[in-house]
Amino acid sequence: MLRAAEEIAKVLGEDAVCYDADVLEHHGHSEWSTSNSPGRAVAVVYPKSTEDVSAIARICHGRSVPMVPFGAGSSVEGNFSQPHSGICVDFSYMDKIVAFHPDDMDVVVQPGVNWVNLNNHIASSGLFAPMDPSPTATVGGMVSTNCSGTNAFRYGTMKDWVLNLTVVLADGTVIKTRRRPRKTSAGYNLTALFVGAEGTLGMVTEATLKLAPLPQDTSVAVVPFPSIHAAAAAATTLIRSGIQLAALEIMDDQQMAILNAHGSPTVRKRHWAEQPTLFLKFGGTPDSIAADTARVAALLTPSNSTTPDPPALHIARTKEEAADLWAARKESLFTMTSIRPPAHEMWSTDVAVPISRLAEIIAWSKAECSALGIFASVVGHVGDGNFHVAMTYDTRDAAQKEAVGKCVKRMMEKALEMEGTVSGEHGIGIGKKGCLVDELGEEAIAVMRRVKRAVDPRGVMNPGKVFH
Ligand SMILES: Cc1cc2nc3c(=O)[nH]c(=O)nc-3n(C[C@H](O)[C@H](O)[C@H](O)COP(=O)(O)OP(=O)(O)OC[C@H]3O[C@@H](n4cnc5c(N)ncnc54)[C@H](O)[C@@H]3O)c2cc1C
Repeated sequence: MLRAAEEIAKVLGEDAVCYDADVLEHHGHSEWSTSNSPGRAVAVVYPKSTEDVSAIARICHGRSVPMVPFGAGSSVEGNFSQPHSGICVDFSYMDKIVAFHPDDMDVVVQPGVNWVNLNNHIASSGLFAPMDPSPTATVGGMVSTNCSGTNAFRYGTMKDWVLNLTVVLADGTVIKTRRRPRKTSAGYNLTALFVGAEGTLGMVTEATLKLAPLPQDTSVAVVPFPSIHAAAAAATTLIRSGIQLAALEIMDDQQMAILNAHGSPTVRKRHWAEQPTLFLKFGGTPDSIAADTARVAALLTPSNSTTPDPPALHIARTKEEAADLWAARKESLFTMTSIRPPAHEMWSTDVAVPISRLAEIIAWSKAECSALGIFASVVGHVGDGNFHVAMTYDTRDAAQKEAVGKCVKRMMEKALEMEGTVSGEHGIGIGKKGCLVDELGEEAIAVMRRVKRAVDPRGVMNPGKVFH
């Protein structure tokens, strides 16, 4: 492995290879994840072009050395960890916008482009890339985890926004999966093969992304409910109403209490009802938003309601207030992480079920967590039937960690019982390999293995991920 790193330094230059222990640690371990591995890469390499990546792959392939692609390291299932060591390929110097085609509503980018920077850069065109995972995430990682976020309710997931990919295969071969038109039915859908592959099939070195028109205006509303069931039932009503919400999110009573106690100054400008709360985002013209908010208000508080205490929909009165309300949802994970007691870690998991089953599984998951007597809270992309449970446990207490692990496993089983999935948006990594078999069955995994062997016969691309 070290010889491969030395060889890479000869081709890319000494500056392109780093052996620093802190850098290796940063690239091999995630504070956000429980699915870490003790393995570390022997070196981190920094390519600047597709040719550099191809050279890295040829060298590593020749020596059967693992390559682990790295974007911003924000993934949470041990997706970029290095259980088999190897060379970590960091794309942070491949952060250029290669071509912007506003008339075609697409943009060609290198994988190290951060989505927030991209959107700031093109904002004046009235277009944006809609996926919104961690604000630090890069296009390469977003493509490779098929990420989504709060905007997925309106815009779908990353797979819906990728027009084509340039990919360096394990042996250094460079392919482009398709060209730039919005549609094609030419040949196998190779783009889809690499979206969500978690870097196990090749390294993305360029992506053409579709862009959406920025809504002319946006607004935000929040509405608390007496129970998770009531909140989820209201969410179902809203989804079925056909109102084009831009996002529909849920936070449980624990999360709302955390906002009051530990939210940022922006978030603590108001006192939040410590009840399960829906967060709604509206997008469109000022007129359409006014019509949508009126319809939502009518649906949530029907005039013939016999409920003595109907839920109070609070609609942001100003742009600033809308931003503050939404910040509460976006900051939730950061706030949870920042208040962990010493020696405690957070086990965060992500499942998705058909939307009609969401209330049931959230209520069930909360009951499981409270039976453990640990701190746990729920946030979710309720519009997509996708939610996250974050559980805090004491790392010094092996029994507690084991109990939390078993609880997560039961949550996966419950999601599968409901025809759901063990990962709505975070991927499989090393954390959920066993559950993927439960979800898809041995035969489907065997097909995945055959595909993997066809493009990576030596098993050097991000080994040990997705399946055993
Ligand atoms: C605070 C926070 C909030 C989050 N919210 C969301 C959310 O709402 N929705 C959501 O979907 N996710 C969310 N995530 C998870 C994370 O942001 C996403 O998984 C994101 O897509 C990862 O991007 P990254 O650049 O950090 O990739 P990394 O973590 O660096 O890598 C992810 C995977 O992609 C592979 N990879 C990276 N670059 C390439 C490349 N060029 N070619 C091939 N493979 C590559 C890696 O090997 C790894 O398997 C959140 C994470 C955090 C910490």
